[in-house]
Amino acid sequence: MIETFQSYIAGEWVAGSDITIDENPSDLDSPVGKFGVVDAQRTLDAVGAAQKAQPTWAATTPQRRADVLDAIGSEILARKAELGRLLAMEEGKSLSESIGEAARAGQIFKFFAGEALRIPGEWLASTRPGVGIEITREPVGVVGIIAPWNFPLAIPAWKIAPALAYGNTVVFKPAEAVPGCAWALAEIISRAGLPQGAFNLVIGSGRTVGQAILDAPGLDALSFTGSVATGNQLLRSAAQRGLKIQLEMGGKNPLIVLADADLDNAVQCAVNGAYFSTGQRCTASSRLIVESAVHDEFVERLQQKLASLKVGPALAEDTDIGPVASQQQFEQDLAYIQIGKDEGATLLWGGEQLDPGPRGYYLQPALFAAEPGHRIATEEIFGPVACVMPADGYDHALALANDTEFGLCAGICTTSLKHATHFKRHAQVGMAMVNLPTAGVDPHVAFGGRKGSSYGAREQGRYAAEFYTTVKTAYTAA
Ligand code: NAD
Repeated sequence: MIETFQSYIAGEWVAGSDITIDENPSDLDSPVGKFGVVDAQRTLDAVGAAQKAQPTWAATTPQRRADVLDAIGSEILARKAELGRLLAMEEGKSLSESIGEAARAGQIFKFFAGEALRIPGEWLASTRPGVGIEITREPVGVVGIIAPWNFPLAIPAWKIAPALAYGNTVVFKPAEAVPGCAWALAEIISRAGLPQGAFNLVIGSGRTVGQAILDAPGLDALSFTGSVATGNQLLRSAAQRGLKIQLEMGGKNPLIVLADADLDNAVQCAVNGAYFSTGQRCTASSRLIVESAVHDEFVERLQQKLASLKVGPALAEDTDIGPVASQQQFEQDLAYIQIGKDEGATLLWGGEQLDPGPRGYYLQPALFAAEPGHRIATEEIFGPVACVMPADGYDHALALANDTEFGLCAGICTTSLKHATHFKRHAQVGMAMVNLPTAGVDPHVAFGGRKGSSYGAREQGRYAAEFYTTVKTAYTAA
C-alpha cells in the first residue's frame, strides 16, 4: 500500500479534496506515494489557525522556542538517511546528495535554535537629556512560505526555522512535485511541541493554494523561492496590498576560468557547479567563461570528466547524476538543447535522452560552445546543460560574467590574488566564489542575489532576522 501524504492544518491532518500521484522520476512505474490536494478555503483555514496561534507562540520564552527547534533539528539529523532516501526518490537527486541535503535541513534548525536565544536589540541614549531608546525586534506575524521542488527539505527548513525562531507562525506550501518531503518535515514539526496552528502545511497547486495564501487577509509576510515569472507575479500582487515579501528566483551563474588557474580544480568546479544535482540548482554555473589560452584544454578535460559520470536512478550507489526531476523540466531541458542547436551553438558533449533501465527522465549532461547572445547562454534552463565561451583576458571575462539580467552568484578559478580580489569586489552578484564551485553554500551566512535573481532581504544566517522580524524603536523618559 503506498502512502498518502496529507496537509496539516490547525493541528490536524487533512486529507484534501483531490488525490494525485507523487511521481518518482527515477522509475515512473514505482510512484513515491499519493498526496491530497487542499482547496482555497482550507488554505484560508490554515492562515486563520496561524493567526490565532501567533500571539501564544510569540509569548513563549526564547528557551522554549530554542528547545522546539533543536528537537526538530535533532530528529532530522537522526533520520537523515531515511529522509534522504525519500528525497532521492521524489526529486531524483543522487542518494549521497539527498542525505547531505537532509543533514543540512537538520543543521539549519539547530542554527536557528541558537538564534532564538540571541535575538538582538540595542539601547542608545537619546539626543534629549534623560531619555533612553530601546530598539527591539518583534515577530512579523503570520508568514506564508512558498517553496520550489529542487531543495525540498533544505529550502523549507531555511524559511520555517527562522520564521519560528523569531516568534512567527507559518503556512507552508511546497511545490507540487515534492509533497512527500514536505509531509515528512511537517510530521516531525507536528510532534515538536508547537501550539496548535503555529505551523501549517498546505499541499496544492500554485494557482489555487499559493494564490489563496497570497490573498489571505491574515497574512503578514511571504517568503518565496521559485522562478522569475512566478516571483514577479507575486511581487506585483504583494505591492498592491502592501505585503512584506522576499523573493529568491533564478540564476544564470558564470564560472570564470583564467589561464593561471589550477585546471584540475577548475574542471572539478565546473562539473560540480554545472551538473551535480542534475544542474537543478539556482546556483548552478551554466556559463563557463574560459580564458582563450586554456579554453581548448579545459574543454577537452571537461569532456573527459563528463564521459566518466554515471547517469542513473537516484538510489543506485554508482549514480553520479540522477534523473531530471519532472516531465515538465525534462521537456524544458530538451527544448533548450534544440534551441541551442537551432541557434548555431555547437553541442560539444551529451544532450541525449538515456535509458539506464527503469522508465525515467534520464538526460546525458550537455555542454555547448555558445556565443554570449545565444538564448542558452542568457536564459535559465535549470537542467544539466551548460555552455562554454572564450574570453580575451580577465577584463573581458568579468564583462561577460556581469552581462546578464541575473545576479545570484559567480565564481572564478585563478591563482592571481589581484584578479580574485578584484572579482570579489566587482562581480555583480550576492555570492562570489574563488576556486570553488558556484553551488555549495554554508547555512550560517547570508544567501541571496542581486538584479533579477532576488528581491527583498537576504535569507539565512543572522541576516534572516531582517525579513522575519520588524524593528521597534521605543523611547523612555527616565
Ligand atoms: P515555480 O515558480 O514554478 O514554483 C515555485 C513555487 O511557487 C511552487 O510551490 C509553485 O506551486 C508556486 N506557485 C506557482 N504559481 C503560483 C502562483 N500564481 N501563486 C502562488 N504560488 C505559485 O518554480 P519551480 O519550478 O518550483 O522552481 C524552479 C525555480 O526556482 C528556478 O527558477 C530556480 O532558479 C528557482 N530557485 C531559486 C533559488 C534561490 O534561492 N534563488 C533556489 C532554488 C530554486
